[in-house]
Amino acid sequence: MTLRSLHDRKGQELIDGVLEIVDRLGPLHLSIVGGDPLVRYRELELLIPLLLDRGIRVQVVTSAFRPLAPSWATQAHMNVVVSIDGLQPEHDVRRAPATYDRILKNIAGQKVTIHCTVTGQMMKQPGYLKRFLEYWTPKTEIRKVWFSLFTPQVGDSLAEMLQPDERLQAIVDMFALRSEFPKLDMPEGMIRQFATPPHSPRDCVFALTTQTLSADLKTKIVPCQFGGNPDCGSCGCIASMGMAAIAAHKLGGIIPVGTIFKASVKIGQIGRTRCKPTAAPPRVQEALRVLR
Ligand code: SF4
Repeated sequence: MTLRSLHDRKGQELIDGVLEIVDRLGPLHLSIVGGDPLVRYRELELLIPLLLDRGIRVQVVTSAFRPLAPSWATQAHMNVVVSIDGLQPEHDVRRAPATYDRILKNIAGQKVTIHCTVTGQMMKQPGYLKRFLEYWTPKTEIRKVWFSLFTPQVGDSLAEMLQPDERLQAIVDMFALRSEFPKLDMPEGMIRQFATPPHSPRDCVFALTTQTLSADLKTKIVPCQFGGNPDCGSCGCIASMGMAAIAAHKLGGIIPVGTIFKASVKIGQIGRTRCKPTAAPPRVQEALRVLR
């Protein structure tokens, strides 16, 4: 089954469906990603205030191929993330019609996060990450910048994949650049995690704490937002690294948070298998992603 073969909900059916799921699962955070969620712009304009009223943090990940709602610029607990595939020459080829010129026009007056997935091609050009930050961070519309590293599927052989020395250089660059560019919103503990990504989805705190749904609001994307058979050992997802950094934090300087977390997941799974089939599953504060 491919995502394209699924029935995408739209209109009121989409709004009602999302609200039903968040009311049932009670997520702390909802990330709406694509494709591009802005193709459902009318629904988003209605849905987002209803989600924020419920105390849920909302993130919209977009190419900014069309203007953002003016109200999004001032909403607390709302983050618009604009995906940019490198500097203008590379980005405009890959992302047309969401070119640099169009993005700049469409984010005017907003406060957005720029997210760039670093590829092998970029790391073959020394100083690329610095030039990217020099371009984006002076702009008033940019609240912060995030870097991920390209994550392949198992068995892939793609030019986008980073060689081990390129991955190491990206880590070194991010460490150096974070003090020069305060808008690079990546703590040291998070950057460090890129050097030791999880071995498998079972070790990935991010995969264990999130649920990804397709736009039919039924089909689960597993084991994480990448779907398929992702190469965890080469994972460069900033969200996964952020959760790993939290898990590595030691409570009282002794017990890593991840140890407590994994024990609680196990207890939850045992509890779930002992529940009668008709019993409601334990209420888990899961982050929930809705793919268009
Ligand atoms: S987010 Fe990364 S480490 Fe986690 S399951 Fe997906 S590919 Fe693996």
